[in-house]
Amino acid sequence: MRLSAFTYYADYVVFPTGAVALSAAGAVSVSRADLPYWGLALLGGMILWPLLEYVLHRWVFHRLAPIRQMHEAHHQKSTALIGTRWWISLPLVAVLALLPASLIMGFGTAAGFTSGLMLGYTGYMLVHHGVHHWSSKSGTFFDRLKRRHVLHHRFDARGDYDQGNYGVVTGFWDRVFGTDLGMGPIAVRRARGDSQDAAGGG
Ligand SMILES: [Zn+2]
Ligand SMILES: [Zn+2]
Repeated sequence: MRLSAFTYYADYVVFPTGAVALSAAGAVSVSRADLPYWGLALLGGMILWPLLEYVLHRWVFHRLAPIRQMHEAHHQKSTALIGTRWWISLPLVAVLALLPASLIMGFGTAAGFTSGLMLGYTGYMLVHHGVHHWSSKSGTFFDRLKRRHVLHHRFDARGDYDQGNYGVVTGFWDRVFGTDLGMGPIAVRRARGDSQDAAGGG
């Protein structure tokens, strides 16, 4: 959904602040002996985030109504301030991540794990905002992320809505699942449209 600038940018404060507060609450609730598990869970959440990002983007944002329609609005106008209101997304994190993780590993470790996911999500938000709003210097890591995601948008602009490059913070899981569009000449030509193909007799 289209958000006001205040609500859109509030995500960039609410999520990292919430992650720090939740991780601190987790750290003080575990025993000293269990602190390493809390730390590992925090790290594990951050490491797991790119896989979750891939799964959500490919199978939820691109497939599941009405989220698909919301995501299509972003694909059609990539610089518009479109997102989920934090007072909806934050309770979802509590119900879908913190609660089940607490039942499995106890609140303290689960808080570490959920904070890791939230920090990963914060990184995703920053990168995704950046690729659509910031310029990049050719050859840098950020430039590569930007090109990857622009390709994801361009493909569906010509009707191929389900092509690839679902990973935003990394292309790792696209390579694992075989959806990496790469940056080769064929992918770039297809992304630009079929003008050359048509001129060539198609
Ligand atoms: Zn998409
Ligand atoms: Zn995008």
